Amino acid sequence: MGLEIVTVPCLSDNYAFLLHDSGSGQTALIDVPEAAPILEVARARDWRISEVWLTHHHDDHVQGLGEILAQFPAKVRGGAADTHRLPSLDHAHRGEDSFDFAGHAVRVIDVPGHTSGHIAFYVADAEAAFTADSLMALGCGRLFEGTAAQMWTSLNRLMSLPPETQICSGHEYTASNAKFALTIDPDNPALISREASIRATRAADGATVPSTLALELATNPFLRASDRDIRARLKMPDAPDVEVFAEIRARKDAF
Ligand code: ZN
Ligand code: FE
Repeated sequence: MGLEIVTVPCLSDNYAFLLHDSGSGQTALIDVPEAAPILEVARARDWRISEVWLTHHHDDHVQGLGEILAQFPAKVRGGAADTHRLPSLDHAHRGEDSFDFAGHAVRVIDVPGHTSGHIAFYVADAEAAFTADSLMALGCGRLFEGTAAQMWTSLNRLMSLPPETQICSGHEYTASNAKFALTIDPDNPALISREASIRATRAADGATVPSTLALELATNPFLRASDRDIRARLKMPDAPDVEVFAEIRARKDAF
C-alpha cells in the first residue's frame, strides 16, 4: 500500500527506477544511468528524491548521480564491498542488511557475478526486487568479475523470493535474450508466447521491464538449469545445476 514504482528509460537501453511512498512523500531512486530523464519524471510528479540506491559500480548505473545530488540532498546507499569504487556513500550495506524506507523494510541481497560487489534491493511491501545486472528479463548479467558458481548462487537467492515479485532489472535486452533463450528451450510454450509478446511490446516501443519472478522461473533459461528438456538438449542429463548454468552462460557469451 502506498508504494509506486516508475520505470525510467535512460541512455540507449538502461533503466532506472523511482520508488515513491505516497504517505511520507519520500522517493528512492534506484541506479542513475543519466540524470535528465529521471529529473523529468520527478519534476512532472512533483517528487523529491530522498534516497539513491546503487546496485553496482558500472558507469551506466552511477554516472548521473552528481547531477541528481545537485538538485536533491539525497542519502546514497550502496554495497560495502565496493566503497572504493562507488561514489561516496552515506550508507554502505552488506548482504542480508535490512534498512527502513518510509516505514517499509528493504532487504539487501548479495548478488555477485556480473561484478564482485553487486547487490539487489528487495522491498516486500512493493512486491519488487531491484536486480539491475544480476537477474535480468530472460537473462542474467555477463560474468565480468565473478564465476558462474557465484552467479548461480546469486540467482538462487533471488529465485527464493515470492513468485509474484516484480523483477526491476537494469537493461532492455529482452528481445535478443529471447532469441537466445529459444535456442536453449525451443519447445517451452511459456517462452514461445513470451517471445511473441516481447516482439509486440518492442514494436510499439514499450518496456519489457519489469517482469515477474514467476515469468522468469517459467521462461528464463538461466533459472532453468534443472529443467529436463534443457538438460537433454545440452546433453548434460546428470550434471550439477551449476554446470548446466555455466554451459548456458558460455553459450550466450558466444551467441
Ligand atoms: Zn553493469
Ligand atoms: Fe549495466
